[in-house]
Amino acid sequence: AIGWDNRRSSQLADELRVAHQLGELSIHYQPLFKLGGELVGMEALLRWHHPELGTVPPVEFIPLLEQSREIVGVGRWVLQEATRQGRSWQIEGRPELTISVNVSGRQLQHPEFYDDVQQALLQSGLQPESLVLEVTESVLVMDIVRIGPVMQRIRDLGVHMALDDFGTGYSSLLYLRGLPIDRLKVDRSFVSGLGSSEQDPTIVTAVVDLAHKLGLRVVAEGVETEEELLAVGAMGCDEAQGFLLGCPAPAQSFSSDQRVLTVS
Ligand code: C2E
Ligand code: MG
Ligand code: MG
Repeated sequence: AIGWDNRRSSQLADELRVAHQLGELSIHYQPLFKLGGELVGMEALLRWHHPELGTVPPVEFIPLLEQSREIVGVGRWVLQEATRQGRSWQIEGRPELTISVNVSGRQLQHPEFYDDVQQALLQSGLQPESLVLEVTESVLVMDIVRIGPVMQRIRDLGVHMALDDFGTGYSSLLYLRGLPIDRLKVDRSFVSGLGSSEQDPTIVTAVVDLAHKLGLRVVAEGVETEEELLAVGAMGCDEAQGFLLGCPAPAQSFSSDQRVLTVS
């Protein structure tokens, strides 16, 4: 199985190099809601439709893009495309909508990343306050000396920063205090099973309380059931995202009459 996996990996790595030019990459969007129910944002999620293998999951191809450094070019395209789409939804009748873009370590380390963000904002006309960059803990521990200052410069533009998949890494909230992060996304593994005996709410409750004391907004990731939604609401999470509320889908599937963005 390992041999097959390796072969598949190196085959995919080669094919990824041309996938972008061939137009096989696309972006899906997943809605984010306030706990009251109001739509507040959309997260851009990269998709690769392989001509023979079908849809290859991001967990499989994003690491390959990072290894080959292709993530820099692809990430730049995601940033441009998502900010343009976000601005167009705002013009169509959702002026308050934010757009979230996942960024990898390699992107943040790249000397042109700051310029890429500024360029995407200028070209799309999206206000910096409408953009959220999502980074994972593993990215931050990787090269904090280099990444910290870049994040601060981008935050100074007004762009928001979210810590994604919180709880899966090793960092504590106190360690993150020096970083310009203003949102925390609690990983699905902590949300899954809440409201039933399968999951202990103590950790999430403590994380939410501390995050709020540090001035962070808290998003619950991967809400799949009504019980989980009720539980994360009772714990004080500010926003939620998950299959229960809306699955990732192409941009056009969210605009019913091209004027008002609706989520069914
Ligand atoms: P993420 O940023 O934490 O995104 C959330 C992932 O959870 C998405 O998986 C989404 O489809 C999935 N998800 C959302 N709600 C639910 C739910 O209720 N239940 C379950 N089981 N899953 C849910 P996806 O699209 O496969 O993306 C996986 C990861 O790949 C993302 O995790 C993100 O870290 C990375 N990624 C995706 N697009 C990009 C990109 O453009 N650039 C970079 N650097 N990374 C990306
Ligand atoms: Mg994310
Ligand atoms: Mg996540």
